[in-house]
Parts: sequence; structure tokens; C-alpha cells
Amino acid sequence: MEKLTCDVLVVGGGLAGLMAAIEARMYVEKVALASNAPVGRGGNTMVSGAGFAAYLGEEMPEDSRQQFLQDTWNGGRQIGDLRLIETLVDKAGPALLQMEAGNGVKLQRVEGKVVRRRPPGHTFARQVSTVFSGYPYKTRGLSITLPLARSALNLGILGLDHCPAMELAVHDGRVCGAYLLDGRGKRLIGVNAGAVVLAAGGGGRLFAHTNNTRDVGGEAFALALKAGAELRDMEFVQFYPTMGVKPVKVTISNSLFGHGAVLRNGSGERFMERYDPRGDMATRDMMSRAIFQEVEQGKGIHGGVYLDCTGIGEDILLNVYRDLTLFLRKHGCDPARDWLVVYPSTHFFCGGVKIDARGYTGVPGLFAAGEAAGGLHGANRLAGNALSEALVFGRCAGEAAGKYAAGLKGVLPPLPEPPLFSFRREGSVSLEEVVSTLRKTLWENAALVRDRQSLEKARDTIAVCESALETCRVSDELEMGYIYRAKNMCLVGRAVVEAALLREESRGNHYRKDFPRENEAYRGSFLIRLVGRELVLEFRTR
Ligand SMILES: Cc1cc2nc3c(=O)[nH]c(=O)nc-3n(C[C@H](O)[C@H](O)[C@H](O)COP(=O)(O)OP(=O)(O)OC[C@H]3O[C@@H](n4cnc5c(N)ncnc54)[C@H](O)[C@@H]3O)c2cc1C
Repeated sequence: MEKLTCDVLVVGGGLAGLMAAIEARMYVEKVALASNAPVGRGGNTMVSGAGFAAYLGEEMPEDSRQQFLQDTWNGGRQIGDLRLIETLVDKAGPALLQMEAGNGVKLQRVEGKVVRRRPPGHTFARQVSTVFSGYPYKTRGLSITLPLARSALNLGILGLDHCPAMELAVHDGRVCGAYLLDGRGKRLIGVNAGAVVLAAGGGGRLFAHTNNTRDVGGEAFALALKAGAELRDMEFVQFYPTMGVKPVKVTISNSLFGHGAVLRNGSGERFMERYDPRGDMATRDMMSRAIFQEVEQGKGIHGGVYLDCTGIGEDILLNVYRDLTLFLRKHGCDPARDWLVVYPSTHFFCGGVKIDARGYTGVPGLFAAGEAAGGLHGANRLAGNALSEALVFGRCAGEAAGKYAAGLKGVLPPLPEPPLFSFRREGSVSLEEVVSTLRKTLWENAALVRDRQSLEKARDTIAVCESALETCRVSDELEMGYIYRAKNMCLVGRAVVEAALLREESRGNHYRKDFPRENEAYRGSFLIRLVGRELVLEFRTR
């Protein structure tokens, strides 16, 4: 095993990881950034719509800090962590402007003023996007990550590309580094670090239908659990209502609804008012479920429903949504005239590692940020709040980790012997089949519409997958790495299912067919710990 030493190790090379690394570097010399994909060229930040929700003070005279806070709290069905929400609301605006001035991430402006949009759930137009023309439409988030990756490089941060963290190193209850698998060299790297920031994103790939990138498979949650941290709100998985089915598979921005886009079923009938009084301005959870139900009832078309943007007007489509419009036209569909077909897909994990406002997990040496962390969004997330979360809490966690590591004055807890990673085994079970079974079962039984029966079915299938992974063939370190990660996926799948089983109500993104109403008794969060192999869940109201 190769060994490396640094003050702060950041796991994950998306927005949260990059911000954490840049910030930590203000306090310590040696910062390393390990990522599954090349730093800045992977993760959901890269494929995001590049829209940040923020209150920018004087630029937004009709808006207020209080209104942003209220919208976020209500969007999360009153179970979000208020300290995290306050941190987001207070810091998103200044952090965004600082990222523009200090790191070269340009914001869309007209005559100096930021261009603002109002996606569903926000009372006022407070979503601000980066300038992404010049980047491929599907990876317009590169407009965020590439300038930040350049900043990180200029600061001398060591990038460890294609190096997924397999396990965190824990000595005497303190996190003191991680074991990485160098995907190219097929060898293990033991990184001894004063502090670790977990910024390895969410877990959309756990489900068969997702718009998440391939390198994000819920590992952050499993790594944290195994290191002794708690997870919260894992039952709240967000589904994006408008993933393009026809003419092209691409995530279509929800802010179109603020400009007059509407949904129609296969007969051309508008249906959102039947599900929610806000109609086509309903939040994503309501909209996803409504689409799912229309299709289930046989009212869909090509496996989805129509998205009709013809009421928006060509001028707005070409000015405000220029890149999307041109992209769709290239695929033979003019949104000013033609209806598209859309269907929901797994989009975002509202839950994650429990943190405080500094990104501290409660396990000495371990910090978390971005989609890996939970608590801010409660039961549902508003558009634009995820990138702002990654930006704000990436910085907070980087600062806290940097200060913590600086306090160690170079005396690091020793790196324990690695677990038994390297082994060979004969076996007939195909890893691909196990992972595909896991993803399919989670989509069919634990996604948009759940009930006790479906969740118990998911639980049983996950158990079968877990034991199958014990007999998979292992021929080299890379294969062993995939099996390790599949085991992590099973563990996280279990966390989702167990929390969903215990929450006998419907709230935000979590919809139980057998308990269709919100129940005041569940106004709180399920906290999850790992004890041995078992997950222990505890309900807390504050
Ligand atoms: C299609 C799409 C559009 C979106 N649009 C928006 C939007 O416009 N506005 C908004 O607010 N939110 C949006 N979101 C959500 C938002 O993009 C994400 O929540 C946010 O980018 C997460 O940032 P992150 O840094 O936490 O994680 P990511 O950007 O996902 O980065 C995770 C990083 O961790 C790495 N990684 C994973 N596992 C490991 C491991 N074991 N070891 C090492 N590295 C690992 C990955 O390679 C990657 O570098 C969108 C999401 C999607 C999928």
C-alpha cells in the first residue's frame, strides 16, 4: 500500500469538495482532493443546471432573508434544521459573489444586474445562474467546476483523480484519513490526514432511473456510517419531474413553469390542478407523483406526459432558455411549437450525514458538505438550494476542517492497518446482475410511491443482494473495489428502506400509499447509526 500524508483530505471533486479544499487551504499547507472521476469533471455539479438560489440584498428589493428562510423551511415540510437553513440564507449571496470575483465563476448578468428566475416553491425570483454558453448543454455545470479546479490547482492542492475512497481510517474514534483505490494503478493508497471532509455527493445511482452521474453512488453515506457518523432524513429522495424522454434524454429546467410551461397528459388535458392547487407551480414532489400517477392510470404518452412550453413565447425561450431551446431544436423539437415528453427520475438525496452549521459530523476529524450532508432540506428541496448548499457548506466544512487540522500542529493520529482489501476469489455470481437487481428493486418498490408491502419486498431483495455479493468473483483490485462499492450501495439502500418503513405518513418527497396524509406525530427526523452490521434508527423531534 502506498502512503500519503496531508493536513486535510477532501473526498469528492464536485462543488462542495472543491470549495472545501480551497477554503481549507487558507488554514493549512497540505490539502489533497480525492475523487472518483477527475476533479471538476464528475459528479452532479457538472451536469447541473448551474442555478443557485440566493438572497442578494439590494439586488432583490422585493425579497428578504426571512422570506427565503420561510420558503426553504416550508418546502422541507417543517422538518429541516433551522440552523442550517439560516446559514444557507445568510451565506449563499455573499459566497456566490465571492466565487464570481475570486474564482472566475461568471454569473449571468444584464447591464451589471444578475439575471433572476423564479422556480416553483420560491416566492420571489432568486435563482441566479452561471454563464454556461460555450460549455456543452448537458455538462453546463463545468462552468462552475472548471474555474474552481483551476483555483485549486493554483493553490497547490493535490488532485487524486480516479481514486475513490473505499473506507475512512478511524483511530480511537477519530477519523485520521482514508483508504483510496487508485483506479488506474490498481493499488491501495492510505492517506493519513488530520481531518477529512466528505463531499462525495448523493446517491441517485441507487435507483434504476436517475439523472445522476455514474460516479455518484451513495458512497458518502456508507463511509460516514462506518466511521461512526449518523445519517438523517434518508427516506426523502427527490425525483425530478421533467427528465426528457422524447426527443432526447436531458433534464429540463423546472423554472420554465415560472414562465408559463404546463404539463398535459396523453389526451392533451392539463392535470396538475387535480393534484395540487398550485397547478403547474407545484413543488417537485407533487409534480413527480402526479406524473407518475397519470402514467400508472394509463393516461400517459410514450411512457411519460407532455411538457408544453408553447405558451412561454419564442422571445423568452430564445433569450432566457437559449441553450436549452437550441439544444432541443438540434434534436428535432422546437419548444416554441412542439410538446416534449417527460417523466420523473431520481434526482437528489435530501437526507445525508448529520452535520452542524460548520459541517462537523460529531465524529472528531470528520466533516461533511454538499449533497452528502443532510438536514437543510428536510422532506423536500427547493430548486437552486442544492448548489447553494454545496457552495456554502463546502466552504464552512473546509474552514472547520482546516482549523481543526491546523490545531493538530502536524501531530496526526496514526493510520491503522487497512482492512483486508486485496484478495482473490472464484465465484459465479455476476456483479452487474446484483447491482442491476438492487437498482431495479429500489425504483419499483421504494421510489415515488411506497407502502409497507413494497418496502418489505425491497428490504428482502437487498438482503439477497448483500449475500450474493459475498460470493462474487474477485479477480483483481478493481473488481474488488466495485464489489466494495456495491456493498455500500446495499447498506445505503437499507437505510432508505428502513427509514421509509418507519415513517408511517406522507411528507414532502416521501409518499406512502398506505399512509397518504401528513401526520403531526412525525414532525421530526429519523437518525440512523450503524451498530455492527445492523442499522439502528431513532426518531428525534429536534
Ligand atoms: C441533472 C441535474 C441538474 C441539477 N441542477 C441543479 C441546479 O440547477 N441547481 C441546484 O441547486 N441543484 C441542481 N442539482 C443538484 C446539484 O447539482 C447537486 O446536489 C450538487 O451539485 C452536489 O454537489 P456535491 O459537490 O455535493 O456533489 P457532486 O457534484 O455530485 O460531486 C460528488 C463528487 O464525489 C465523487 N465521489 C463519489 N464517490 C466517491 C468516493 N467513494 N471517493 C471519492 N470521490 C467520490 C464524485 O466523483 C464527484 O467528484 C442538479 C442535479 C442533477 C443531477
